[in-house]
Amino acid sequence: MADGIVTLQRDVVAEATEVLRRLGVPAERLDEGDLAVASPITGQILARLRQTSAQECVLAVARAQTAFERWRSVPAPRRGDLVRLLGEELRLAKDDLGALVTLEAGKTVSEGRGEVQEMIDICDYAVGLSRQISGLTLPTERASHRMSESWRPLGVVGVISAFNFPVAVWSWNAAIALVCGDPVIWKPSEKTPLTALAVQALFDKALARFGEAPEGLSQVLIGAAAAGEAIVRAPEVRLVSATGSTAMGRKVAPILAERFARALLELGGNNAAIVTPSADLDLTLRAVAFAAMGTAGQRCTTLRRLIVHKDVKSTLLERLIKAYGSVAVGDPRDSTTLVGPLIDEAALRGMQAALAQAQAEGGTLLAGGERVGAAGAYVRPALVDMPAQTPVVARETFAPILYVLSYETLEEAIALNNAVSQGLSSSIFTSDLREAELFCSEQGSDCGIANVNIGPSGAEIGGAFGGEKETGGGREAGSDSWKAYMRRATNTVNYGRDLPLAQGVKFDL
Ligand code: NAD
Repeated sequence: MADGIVTLQRDVVAEATEVLRRLGVPAERLDEGDLAVASPITGQILARLRQTSAQECVLAVARAQTAFERWRSVPAPRRGDLVRLLGEELRLAKDDLGALVTLEAGKTVSEGRGEVQEMIDICDYAVGLSRQISGLTLPTERASHRMSESWRPLGVVGVISAFNFPVAVWSWNAAIALVCGDPVIWKPSEKTPLTALAVQALFDKALARFGEAPEGLSQVLIGAAAAGEAIVRAPEVRLVSATGSTAMGRKVAPILAERFARALLELGGNNAAIVTPSADLDLTLRAVAFAAMGTAGQRCTTLRRLIVHKDVKSTLLERLIKAYGSVAVGDPRDSTTLVGPLIDEAALRGMQAALAQAQAEGGTLLAGGERVGAAGAYVRPALVDMPAQTPVVARETFAPILYVLSYETLEEAIALNNAVSQGLSSSIFTSDLREAELFCSEQGSDCGIANVNIGPSGAEIGGAFGGEKETGGGREAGSDSWKAYMRRATNTVNYGRDLPLAQGVKFDL
């Protein structure tokens, strides 16, 4: 390929067809319809899929509801067995599924495999959870009474996912939902449906080994917003976990609110890192480089705003400019590549428009921003020095642009961190305990994730993942996120012969 992009000569279409075959997706499914799926590596079309019709969406929801009525009564540890088998299939298919993530979403090989590892991790977590779902026993004010909480399966769970985590997001939801007793209907991004078909094929393998299970426990709908909306509007779908842009969340949330369904929203981020004078600059440089340029800036947790103390700004910028100048941009299948392509041409146009706006708002382009290569939306990550947190800095542009702001007091830096409408992830780099603790305190970062001496991206599944404000407020994966997938019943049992009323109320006939 031209213009300095080193592209492997291996044919992406042939490679994708072969990997899909190994993963259990038959070749005839790849040329059935009008949804063209392109590889960001070269822009070539990998498949043309048939989209799920409105009528098929209705039938899928009905099948899931029927499955729920059986699955909810299967003991939770037995439900965990199915997720254990899914984890085994994922272990066996890790390299192939990771390779498909690379081919379809453009992630580097290690990031593609890392995404599958995350699926394996959440399966392990969910298997353990299947033996730990428990409620409280609570004090009652009435004699010979017992009050407790029980957690029961909720119902059908809908998952809408974004292109940039084409498989991990499903597993965060599905592994937990399945052990909680809930069937799952998945509407993957229309840009990455092939990985979803492959995951469904792996799930079907696990199901075949599991033995008897209701039909419709896990289903995939292929299509764009309309298929997503079918899930959002279906009365049987009790929880919709929707990952994507804040614009998508604004459409989905009111529909769910109107029918009193649960919404777990994982929307856009605009993540910052504060670099203080006591920061270890070697560690900071590595963390910032990965968080800002990794995944070509297409993570919800990508570092987009660097808030640097004025005393260390010139030293750090000098080193960052060098890193931006030397980072390897290219074919994500090449093991030396650190930055692969953007998902499509529209993403590249969005990046160029943001860079033009940043310069119009007083910014100075310090490095990168230029397109490289002829086919595929490859671009060098951009570093931009900004005079203030202007409108372009305050919004999320889903591309590798790092805006640099400077500060004098930590209070000022924290205020900058919090002065945007998104609230996903944040970091501070410091060796000062007081600064670190202040940042993590109620006076510090207002985000769902606040890290110290780690970049804002790359969360582990053990914690609850999600963010505040326009990021949507949802939490998924670890900690007590499972509670969103279950309904809680408070049970009060009278084992005496009297009928005392609560609060001492009298009603004697
Ligand atoms: P997107 O909003 O364009 O699409 C996301 C999903 O929503 C797709 O499956 C799409 O078909 C569906 N969708 C769109 N409109 C819909 C509607 N009206 N009803 C139902 N479904 C609808 O997002 P994208 O470009 O795929 O992904 C990038 C965005 O996702 C970024 O903003 C990023 O920050 C965000 N994201 C957030 C998280 C998180 O955990 N907070 C994780 C990954 C991505």
